[in-house]
Amino acid sequence: MVQIAGTLLHPRFSSRALRMALHDVVLVPGDGIGPEVARAVQRILGAAGAPLRWHEHPAGLAALEQGLEVLPASTVEAIRETGVALKGPCTTPVGEGFGSVNVRLRKTLDLYAALRPVRNLAGVRSRYADIDLVVVRENTEGLYSGVENEITPGVVTSLKVATERACERIARFALHYARSRGRHRVTIFHKANIMKLTDGLFLRIARRVHDAEFPEIELDALIIDAGCMKLVQEPSRFDVLLMENLYGDVVSDLCAGLVGGLGVVPGANLGEGCAVFEAVHGSAPDLAGQDRANPLALLMSAVMLLNHLAEVRADPRCHAIAATIRGAYDRALACGETTADIGGRLGTQAFAEAVVARLG
Ligand code: ATP
Repeated sequence: MVQIAGTLLHPRFSSRALRMALHDVVLVPGDGIGPEVARAVQRILGAAGAPLRWHEHPAGLAALEQGLEVLPASTVEAIRETGVALKGPCTTPVGEGFGSVNVRLRKTLDLYAALRPVRNLAGVRSRYADIDLVVVRENTEGLYSGVENEITPGVVTSLKVATERACERIARFALHYARSRGRHRVTIFHKANIMKLTDGLFLRIARRVHDAEFPEIELDALIIDAGCMKLVQEPSRFDVLLMENLYGDVVSDLCAGLVGGLGVVPGANLGEGCAVFEAVHGSAPDLAGQDRANPLALLMSAVMLLNHLAEVRADPRCHAIAATIRGAYDRALACGETTADIGGRLGTQAFAEAVVARLG
């Protein structure tokens, strides 16, 4: 083992890593189970020799406890500067004056596309086999506009916003993603039969972008209620799913349930200048501080982060290390070395060690 920037490197990577620079990455440990799953992931990335230099910044309750804003400007600026972050789940305090931290971060950094790959993992029990789909969620508008009004006592409204610009760029993102990853079909989930203007715009623009720029990709559309039924009946027929913000939130958790639960689904929030990688799950306060949470979803998000760096920084080391980590956790899962949520007996940090032991 060789030590570099405080990290023990696996011998296989040490000579190359020493020759090349480290990538600056912001770590937001978050709240609830966030800090413990983040620690487990850092342990694995460090042991694998990931060429990263961490800059830790708070958000959510952790920030409030330090006397800072719930989403400190310094955290946002740090992500803007490095362009890349790994983020644990953040809790937004209930009550007046606190908009969701996650929503604000996505809007402030214009992280307009949420990408959530959902696939079966060998060794993780599920009712289905052969699931390999990706949820693409519009991340900045819809009912997450945060515009709510009390019209008169007892009558409140919540505004659903759809703009042509946001519909167009998320449609282009999903179709481009399908093309660049060799995927064949994009399915839109919508409710344009009821929300004729908002969901109608989403649907119409996606079709227009498809016809003009991506005619070789198969595009179909399902009303979301029927789509959910088909997802549960025959999930392996789906490839890329495209939908607006709230539907994407709900359908992501549904899809997690198809492959073993929230402990195994990673995510990325992508914009033009920044990328924030985070698990689909929340802060799971029922498990916090007990070494019971599954760090796999955040680890898989970190693997996505490494693949992102390999692409945008043209650094093949990140790609190789991502593949090594993926192989290691696949082998740990195949041996039943997992946390309790997916049928194993290991704690959070013991699972991390089981992955580290399989890196070679
Ligand atoms: P949010 O509103 O932020 O989505 P939530 O409490 O609705 O949060 P989660 O925190 O995502 O939902 O989790 C719901 C439940 O799923 C948790 O209470 C926990 O039991 C389980 N869970 C979530 N994430 C994990 C994990 N990483 N490992 C094990 N179990 C998890």
